[in-house]
Amino acid sequence: MLALNTSVEQRSDEEPIAIELSDEERLTICKLVLRNIWEKFSFFAIVSERDNLNMGRRVAPMNKAELLSGEELVRLIENTVDNGIMPEDDIPSRIEKAMALQNQDACQHTLMPFIQLILKQRVRGFLYDEGTRQPTVRSTDFVTRVLQYYIQCCVGKEPPLPRNWTLPTGGCGCGDCNAVNQFLKDPQQRVGRFPLSSSRRAHLHQQFTDARNAPYTVTTLRGTNPNVWEMTKTLGSAGLIHEAWVNRRADAEQWLKLLKKAGPLDSYLGDMEDAILSLDLERIEAEQHQKMMMGHLTSHHRHSHTRHPLQTADVNGQTSTAARRALKRSADSNGQSGSAKRVKSRSTGTAVAQTPKRTAEVIDLTGSP
Ligand SMILES: [Zn+2]
Repeated sequence: MLALNTSVEQRSDEEPIAIELSDEERLTICKLVLRNIWEKFSFFAIVSERDNLNMGRRVAPMNKAELLSGEELVRLIENTVDNGIMPEDDIPSRIEKAMALQNQDACQHTLMPFIQLILKQRVRGFLYDEGTRQPTVRSTDFVTRVLQYYIQCCVGKEPPLPRNWTLPTGGCGCGDCNAVNQFLKDPQQRVGRFPLSSSRRAHLHQQFTDARNAPYTVTTLRGTNPNVWEMTKTLGSAGLIHEAWVNRRADAEQWLKLLKKAGPLDSYLGDMEDAILSLDLERIEAEQHQKMMMGHLTSHHRHSHTRHPLQTADVNGQTSTAARRALKRSADSNGQSGSAKRVKSRSTGTAVAQTPKRTAEVIDLTGSP
């Protein structure tokens, strides 16, 4: 179980004296340690990833050895329940509470593998209901909430890309510098080519290339006379932030693939299935908002048609699927007035996201000339 070092050093120049503990004393210490772990439960992540997302760059990845693996979390839970530290029912809420403090590494290294083990029916307390052979409400609730959390905090909203290729101008005011400025100002042109003698290229180099963090790169194309001074606009920091998001999204897609392989993921997700599987953050947040609003009303309208979205996932039989689809439709139509809806398909590259407060346009520049 837990290896406890029970030796106590009295003086540094003496041999350590080992204190023999009875089995009962060992057990008491184990229980204390386990209780302490859950009281201060975290996956050992210190930095809030939300801050890092805004910075667009990741902090150095944590030492993986410091992070709990999915398997270790399973063993920790088993030890905790077996020793009567905490009832099994409390485990999901404890883990969810700890999630709020985690960063992306903990998501990738601990939470997703843990969900994978749940789907593989390898986590006690999250096994199928013995009667129905369906996931229990505890499992469906937990899996859905962890995945929602993961998408919200570890993928996040798509950061905006620059609207066009217009860049600030520079130079000394001479004809060559002005030609470069015309190119820099142009919202459409991404690559500018200037055939120039070496002294004039050197002048442009000195005027434009030495700028730090310039949102363009410069090369000299040889093989023609004169050689060509070529400037290519880059996306700059906005591009890097966007690229980091694309990578996080790709990680999430990879995880969803693995989870689908591990078990019947769809039967865990209830009416959040579409939103989660398509990583649709707007819809996840809209549903959560709606649920929160419903939470305020449920005490008065217990029998309204908007029930807890995960309940049907635990009901066996065909009616539950039909009911779920119907509820999904009703949830969709309800969602329109107060929630976000993506108007154009993602595949066109241009998407207009309408929210109650604003309209944001996201332009994919990768196809531009
Ligand atoms: Zn000049």
